[in-house]
Amino acid sequence: MPTSFFTAAGKFYRGNLHTHSTRSDGALDPAEVCRRYQAEGYDFIALTDHFLGLFNYPITDTTACRNEEFTTIMGAELHTGTMENGHLWHLVAVGLPSDFIPPDAPHFRPVKGSESAASIAQRARDAGAFVAIVHPHWSGLTEADARSITAAHAIETYNHGCVVDNDRGEGFLTLEHLLNEGHRLNLIATDDAHFNTSDFFGGWVMVKTAENTPEALLDALKAGAFYSSTGPEIIDIRITKDSIEVDCTPVVNILVQGQGPPMAKLREETMTTGQVSLERLAGSPWIRITIIDRAGKRAWSNPIWIDG
Ligand SMILES: [Zn+2]
Ligand SMILES: [Zn+2]
Repeated sequence: MPTSFFTAAGKFYRGNLHTHSTRSDGALDPAEVCRRYQAEGYDFIALTDHFLGLFNYPITDTTACRNEEFTTIMGAELHTGTMENGHLWHLVAVGLPSDFIPPDAPHFRPVKGSESAASIAQRARDAGAFVAIVHPHWSGLTEADARSITAAHAIETYNHGCVVDNDRGEGFLTLEHLLNEGHRLNLIATDDAHFNTSDFFGGWVMVKTAENTPEALLDALKAGAFYSSTGPEIIDIRITKDSIEVDCTPVVNILVQGQGPPMAKLREETMTTGQVSLERLAGSPWIRITIIDRAGKRAWSNPIWIDG
């Protein structure tokens, strides 16, 4: 991730990239899902209904929900192929064309001989989508599983629905294992909202673009010009030769993680800016930043590759 987008022209737009509606197994119809997200201050969402035969392979058309202040990106949660544990794959693709060809995925159980997850991820990417490996902890994903999705742009490291419903919502371990192998993946926080439980308005991305349009948002997502949050805002990140500076809304912790156990941290009351020495992280090919506010809410930068 470059950090220059923080100070580039444009603004940050808040969005949820993983959401379900009555077009699959969600509780609310697409228009009501969009209405609630806009009313909560979101600038955009992607409805990502389960792309399965039992729901007639929906790529839910949300264009009618767009207005001056709110937009939508077409997408779906893709399912095909088998993970190492024998269960069906889940991948989110944001920015899918409406004629994206379905795999042989009639229901939530894997079908022998069906298209692999790696193949459908590549097809989605080739069709213009931003592709994410979602809820790796909930899925029981192995590193080999994750490594096989070479077309992925990101790993969903915070899935609010999984946090709320089963305490298996985080994917940082999967992400860091792949970063350590040199895979340049970004991270996303999402809701995976179904509106059957309080699985909404908990995790989101903040995407920096010149305008709030599906095309601009997709380009910025693919370029890594975003960060993820459950509360606080990252305003700027500046890297000097041996330190990193973060501007943010008030937090009590600024953490810098890298390869292996070494990390660096600042802890103070009500920091809106902080400078952290990178001395302990010397030699790590990547670093990433977490900020935590007094309520325990967090925001995460994408990984920053030190060699650029
Ligand atoms: Zn899923
Ligand atoms: Zn989902």
